[in-house]
Amino acid sequence: MQPILLSGVVVRTTDYGERDRILTLYTDELGLITVTANGSRSLKSRSLVATELFCYSKFVLNRRGDRYTVKEVELIESFFDLRSDVSKIALAGYVCEVLAHVGTENLPDPDLLRLCLNTLFAIAKERAPQALIKGAFEMRAASILGFRPELSVCAECGEEGEDVALDVMNGAVRCAACRRETELLALPPSEEEALHPTILCLLTAAARVSLFYVIVCPLEKILSFRLENPEDVKSFAYAAETYLLNHLERSFKNLEFYKTLLLEEGQG
Ligand SMILES: [Zn+2]
Repeated sequence: MQPILLSGVVVRTTDYGERDRILTLYTDELGLITVTANGSRSLKSRSLVATELFCYSKFVLNRRGDRYTVKEVELIESFFDLRSDVSKIALAGYVCEVLAHVGTENLPDPDLLRLCLNTLFAIAKERAPQALIKGAFEMRAASILGFRPELSVCAECGEEGEDVALDVMNGAVRCAACRRETELLALPPSEEEALHPTILCLLTAAARVSLFYVIVCPLEKILSFRLENPEDVKSFAYAAETYLLNHLERSFKNLEFYKTLLLEEGQG
């Protein structure tokens, strides 16, 4: 049988036995797959580093039925600096957890893989404040996954609008004037609305522009925006996280851990 050649990032690892490891890979050719790396934990193994969490490596796989085993592996990028700081590990872990959750076998998404590699690199090399790296990842990932919001005009009046709020589940923004109008009408919510209350995130003007930017910009320039005012950063970060988590209908273990770290540092 012909071996399979592909590249992928290790998004989850589970050790078993004395020297073996099960890897979940997000790959360019096959999307999300689970592979067995026999002997990858023995000290002599050259594959030890290349099969660590967060590593981006070239794999030669054998396939038997629906099971893959690693025949050879060669490290492309270890993102070594990720391991220098617990908040970097938690944030990178969150990125990998998202990929492990949304990935599907035989449905590779090159944009999602590139976004992941880009984000891991940015976290490792501190290319921007973590809040911006994280928000950019969340908003771009949501867009790649088919939840791209319309941010440029108010969904009600079609104008650009001021003091807009992001209507998370409808992927739209509403201006202050239109929101006031709804409040004045004060209709009782329909059954559907009562079951799924509207989630609104107020956006500062700068946060709105930045959210729009990270969705439409070329991927390699995703961190070429600036937000310095703490209110703008907070608005951007809160909207991006709320948006992704609500569309995926879940939170993530590493994200919750990351947030406790921020609280401890007094940044939360
Ligand atoms: Zn409006």
